[in-house]
Amino acid sequence: MKKRTKIIATLGPASTSTSKIERMLHAGADVFRINLSHASIDDAKDIISLVRSQEKKVGRPVAIMLDLQGQKVRIRGFGKKPHVILKSGDKYALDPSLNDNGNQRAVGVTFKDLYKNVQPGDELLLSDALIKLKVEAIKSKKIHTIVLRGGKLKPYQGVNKKGGGLSLSGITQKDKSDLKKSLSLEYDYVAVSFVKDDKDVNDIRKIVKDKDIKIIAKIERNEAIKNIDKITKAADGLLVARGDLGVEIGIEQLPATQKFLIRKAISFDKLVIVATQMMESMINNRVPTRAEVFDVANAVTSGVDAIMFSAETAIGKYPSEVISEASRICSESEGAYVRPLSVDRVVPKTLPVDQVIALSAVYSAKLTKVVAIAALTETGSTALWMSRVQSNIPIYAMTQNNKTSRRICLYKGVQSIKLDKLEENHAQANMQVISLMRKIGTVKKGDLVIITKGDLLGTSGGTNALKVVEVGNMIEVND
Ligand code: PGA
Ligand code: MN
Repeated sequence: MKKRTKIIATLGPASTSTSKIERMLHAGADVFRINLSHASIDDAKDIISLVRSQEKKVGRPVAIMLDLQGQKVRIRGFGKKPHVILKSGDKYALDPSLNDNGNQRAVGVTFKDLYKNVQPGDELLLSDALIKLKVEAIKSKKIHTIVLRGGKLKPYQGVNKKGGGLSLSGITQKDKSDLKKSLSLEYDYVAVSFVKDDKDVNDIRKIVKDKDIKIIAKIERNEAIKNIDKITKAADGLLVARGDLGVEIGIEQLPATQKFLIRKAISFDKLVIVATQMMESMINNRVPTRAEVFDVANAVTSGVDAIMFSAETAIGKYPSEVISEASRICSESEGAYVRPLSVDRVVPKTLPVDQVIALSAVYSAKLTKVVAIAALTETGSTALWMSRVQSNIPIYAMTQNNKTSRRICLYKGVQSIKLDKLEENHAQANMQVISLMRKIGTVKKGDLVIITKGDLLGTSGGTNALKVVEVGNMIEVND
């Protein structure tokens, strides 16, 4: 089996071509992200069809994540000037009336009510905290500050308040309209930016309705940490968005918060992704720094489903090299440390039958000499539950359902296999599964394999059987 940890690559100008996508797939990319902060829905449509054509060519399912822009406060422009230089000790003002006519003394902001959300003494962080301002006074909608840390300020850089608390309304009109327009496109996950509570997630779910699209809540505001239990329950997964989150809570808080969020997601049986600056130096270099190697490995051993690349693959010089370096680090680190079964999971008193079968499969595999699990699944739920338990048993999820086969690409430890047709007879289905696994080379004669499935093959929620079979020694009768 290949690496268990999945890799999400953001597509951008450096990687949006058939050949680059194909190379990234061969290097180990599992999911592609389209960032609606930079791409329009029309762009997304074209990018999705590019990915789908390469998915067909490579012959394995691929998932696509659409990332909504979200409510990010930004400064505005400086007329024709490309930037201004702020020096520590300078006085600087944020003044919404300036629009795009910022200058050396003041700049406009995209959020007109910013002044209502700050007080003298607050710290405002511009451009990913490169520049730090301290609020001195607020006079007629204008925020007067003093520069604590200067630097080069370019147009439309982000504004964050240390500690959070910019009380923006929930999901923006742009996000809602982008999402509505996107519903006919063939993608699998929607990432919701700047989520602050479960209402934001539920608002998105109301728009998605019965479409087979799963929701990933991006945790990048301080408020989201306070509401994390409700957010985690409402969403299908969390994304630790270390860029904006680091600015809001302080970068020194990131390591502990990352661990906390990963555990939170695992405890609720949800997906979890770590993102931003994982291999930032590879934007320009062919090899990662030692610190980046350790950052990826640390995420892997903490039990994430996936690591995500942003600028590295979207605008960097070496998109496919980023993926192959990360793939090697993942597979080597996965073997180094496997946590005990069921650590961090909250197991309720009773569980539905299909979940019990899924969990039993992993526990049984650990306790016997089973070398792999094959889950015949319609919705992918059995594969999801199996992957929530920390183990190093390879899980092969086999399904006839196209959407399910793609969604599964994000689940750690699960290899997704799309079946053209599943044999209806149980004995024949078992044979089909085993011969497929022999063909892939994961099992050989004499190996024990667990197969889970339902009485009615191909129907959802019906998994009720767990069978242990020996490869090459199966009884070919109806069971
Ligand atoms: P972004 O979110 O890449 O959409 O900004 C990730 C982050 O803030 O870390
Ligand atoms: Mn962000």
